[in-house]
Amino acid sequence: MRRKMAAGNWKMNGLRSSLAELDKLARAHPTAKCDLLVCPPATLLCAAATTCGNSAIRVGGQTCHDAVSGAHTGDISAQMLRDAGATAVILGHSERRQDHDERSEDVRLLAQAAQAANLQTVICVGESLFQRQATNTLDIIGAQLSLSIPDSSTGENLVVAYEPVWAIGSGMTPTPDQIGEVHDFMRARLEQRFGYGVGKSVRLLYGGSVKPANAAEIFAISNVDGALVGGASLKAEDFSPIIAAL
Ligand code: PEP
Repeated sequence: MRRKMAAGNWKMNGLRSSLAELDKLARAHPTAKCDLLVCPPATLLCAAATTCGNSAIRVGGQTCHDAVSGAHTGDISAQMLRDAGATAVILGHSERRQDHDERSEDVRLLAQAAQAANLQTVICVGESLFQRQATNTLDIIGAQLSLSIPDSSTGENLVVAYEPVWAIGSGMTPTPDQIGEVHDFMRARLEQRFGYGVGKSVRLLYGGSVKPANAAEIFAISNVDGALVGGASLKAEDFSPIIAAL
């Protein structure tokens, strides 16, 4: 049985005053039946880890560098994330792929570095609207999976998030059948590559306009083990009911 998981991606949002939302969330979930992760901007990581304290919420980074240290102005290594209190990191988000030209081959190097630093990696894949309309979705997802995920992955250190690019922040979501088709495909691919045991144990999250109103329907879909949530993770009053729907 895979443990359900809800991960929040704050993106480039949040000042110290936003920690009040995390405090509310931590108080609402002192213990949890599922894995809870919040990924604030790097500036808030240390304080967020302190705010979460002994609650059920873990904190994570939103990307990392593949080197341990060195002359990389503005970058943050996986080891630094760990040192700041992170136990996980989101990698290959479509905004990183778009804004920073991250290719799947790059994502794989970042994931290798993160896993070596003992961080759980939440690796994002997803097709554009153009690719979906051209009926290329499964080809794109298959290629992103095989190129982005390192061989060092296990059921513990790998989580995959299916995030259709066109659904992120748009209010649009794929139909349950479309989500189910991609998640079943991803499960089969992971089982093929890593064997049945590991392939079966990797959590598969759906991400893209998850809200309190659609969470339960999405969580009922085959092979959906939870969600990666952007906008609706910023306020405890929105994220809490999503967690409760798991
Ligand atoms: C995301 O950015 O990972 C995301 C899923 O965003 P939103 O929930 O706002 O669509």
